[in-house]
Amino acid sequence: MNESLLEHLRALESVARVLAPGAEQRAALTRDAVAHAQAHLEWHETAPSMAPDLGSAEAVALAPIGRDPIGWKRALELLSTHVDKVGQNPTGAGFFAYIPVGNLYHAALGDYLAAVTNRFSGSSFAAPGAVRIENQVIQWLASLVGYPATCAGNLTSGGSLANFSAIVTAREAAGLHARDYGRAVVYLTDQTHHCITRGLKVAGLGECVPRRVPMDARYRMEPRALDRAIEADLQGGRIPWLIVANAGTTDTGSVDPLDSIADIARDRKIWMHVDGSYGGLFAMCAEGRKVLKGIERSDSVAMDPHKGLALPFGLGVVLVKDAEAMRSAYAFEATYISRDVHASEDPSPMDYSTELSRPFRALRLWLPLQALGTEPFEAALEEKLLLARYAHARLSGMEGIEVGPEPELSVLFFRALPANGDPDEFQFRLERAIQDDGRINLSSSTVDGKRVMRFAVLSPHTHLADVDAAMAVLEELIRALWKTEG
Ligand SMILES: *Cc1c(COP(=O)(O)O)cnc(C)c1O
Repeated sequence: MNESLLEHLRALESVARVLAPGAEQRAALTRDAVAHAQAHLEWHETAPSMAPDLGSAEAVALAPIGRDPIGWKRALELLSTHVDKVGQNPTGAGFFAYIPVGNLYHAALGDYLAAVTNRFSGSSFAAPGAVRIENQVIQWLASLVGYPATCAGNLTSGGSLANFSAIVTAREAAGLHARDYGRAVVYLTDQTHHCITRGLKVAGLGECVPRRVPMDARYRMEPRALDRAIEADLQGGRIPWLIVANAGTTDTGSVDPLDSIADIARDRKIWMHVDGSYGGLFAMCAEGRKVLKGIERSDSVAMDPHKGLALPFGLGVVLVKDAEAMRSAYAFEATYISRDVHASEDPSPMDYSTELSRPFRALRLWLPLQALGTEPFEAALEEKLLLARYAHARLSGMEGIEVGPEPELSVLFFRALPANGDPDEFQFRLERAIQDDGRINLSSSTVDGKRVMRFAVLSPHTHLADVDAAMAVLEELIRALWKTEG
């Protein structure tokens, strides 16, 4: 044996061994990381909703990645000073912008354990236990929206990918060919999330005809207008193949009349997909179930546990009622994955997704559900829904505010009116004032061509006192702006 080769191997080994730290080192790393997390969460209790970025560019530039690392402790310090607290705080009690999210600690530890144990959760042959848990979580999510146990599903990184996955399945189920795309019609509304049109484009369906169906006064699809549009498209030789219904729109929180749309989808034999990324999980509470009636009759649904279930970013779900449609949309052959060896009773995530390797996503939801049960999640969702109604009532009573419709779920919008001048410009000024102030966070959008302020209640840290505090801040900032108008 070549002695110099052996020597070289020994030298490489001694350097590479740090990639598998021993028990004592692991304990030290963990202590630091946990102390970091605890300090962050203490800060989080009274944290602003928006904080300026003071010098993160320089700090990151001063820590180039290379052979001389800054080390674990200094890296954590850099995070704490320049990363963790900078910019928006989307899990904060005062965060009402976009769609607020959570940082449930049980779920964060689920991610930690999933990473430490790192089973290959793509295949039930490789990780039978992990995939069983993955499937249990999918089945539970399916039961929330009244889907049968025979449905298929997949845990994704979020709602955009979940919607995309449903679009691909619907495309395959409709048997569409490239030559049909220019005549293929998708029905949606002006409130549909942009990830649908982007998903269509990425799925190769950018040439499809997007048919924007008129809405009622509460921004919900008009079923009769939908049926008329389908009829006109059939008369015109086009191919109606997909209806995308909303279960909670981003701007207005609206839920389309799912039951009536399901009647039309059934009669016309068109795939009905529901984007419930924001709103679908309100099916966990009685008030939400009333609004979402009919969701169980759809062909597919997308939902975001990282919104409605208070989890950190990184968990969406797509559910498809016809399991075979989903499986055949993603079917693949690969010599290195032998079906003879990999055969298993349990469906494998790799057969229902474009992903092969993937994190064990279910654990971040399964662990909290096993630790806490479903009741706290049901209560939190009902609380948010009622807090939004409460906020709507408070805003309706405020001078100089024009409120939108009473929320169906937990998103509402309003316009603060200027003493004089352009109302649209005034919303931008108010949004900027809110960002500069930092105590609360609201985002603006355009509804019916008018700039509006949105108020979305979903952070698990937001309770009655926080909504009251937000109302006081809003009143104060609006009054201050009125004064500057002179
Ligand atoms: C958030 C959202 C999406 C996109 O989901 P991501 O998890 O951000 O990818 C899609 N549709 C609606 C209605 C949403 O609120």
